[in-house]
Amino acid sequence: MKIKFWGTRGSIPVNGKEFCKYGGNTSSVEILPSENISFILDAGSGIRNAGIDIIKRKEVEKIFIFLSHFHTDHIVGLPFFTPFYKENYSINIFGLPYIYNTIEKIVDLIIGPPFFTLTKENFKAKILFKNLSIGDVFNINGVIVSTIKVNHPDPTLGYKIIYKNQTIVYITDNELIQNNQLSLDNIEKVIREKHVDLIEFCKNADVLIHDTSYDIDDYNERIGWGHSNIYSAVMLGHLAKVKKLYLFHYDPSYDDNKIDTLLNKTQKFSKKINGRIECYASSDYMEVEI
Ligand SMILES: [Zn+2]
Repeated sequence: MKIKFWGTRGSIPVNGKEFCKYGGNTSSVEILPSENISFILDAGSGIRNAGIDIIKRKEVEKIFIFLSHFHTDHIVGLPFFTPFYKENYSINIFGLPYIYNTIEKIVDLIIGPPFFTLTKENFKAKILFKNLSIGDVFNINGVIVSTIKVNHPDPTLGYKIIYKNQTIVYITDNELIQNNQLSLDNIEKVIREKHVDLIEFCKNADVLIHDTSYDIDDYNERIGWGHSNIYSAVMLGHLAKVKKLYLFHYDPSYDDNKIDTLLNKTQKFSKKINGRIECYASSDYMEVEI
């Protein structure tokens, strides 16, 4: 499978010369089990570039969009996904309905007045809406997709995608340890005890893309906001025996130098705990073949 990161920032898009290396678009990650099927995780501002690229690539016929939740940094790009406005695409939109009882109603809210000029009546692609539940497991063209509930202020799904013995787990907006007494030595104990299901969900994954919104000191001022610090994400990956962790959903105040520092810290922490997990910092436009 191939992964294309189109948006790796959290909360709000950023730009400027200090954000050139990692980019400033919010969450959107494309996974390609094959060249003609595109899975897109979240519709932050990065999905706009995904749409432009998909149209250029020509091979893609079927698109499956999976929304983790509906906070603005995960949906703001949806109206700007240009394949909606082309006849030759079949697009399925999946998510866990919240407040409104169907995904279709939520998309109507996102793409329509008073927030946007157009509505889904302007779409030319064939669109289907699928309401998901926590713990769903289903098969799309031989790709197995599973969902899990993660720890965020509004209902939020993590996704696992398995194809031909390769596994990618996408968990954004997840606060692993809600605790300001966070000594590095007790991270393992807390995650092992609190996240039995999540460790099992991520077990032996080739790639884990996980919320690493904050450095450790910044996290201590943002407890309960629904995001993880870098060390707890490394520990989850380590306990689940994941091969590669991609840091993701960076705080908008973090410039390129800061993200370099975060990556360095995670790599040192992995060594300290004798972890085999490889840590990488995701960035907009990054492509990974697994
Ligand atoms: Zn977010």
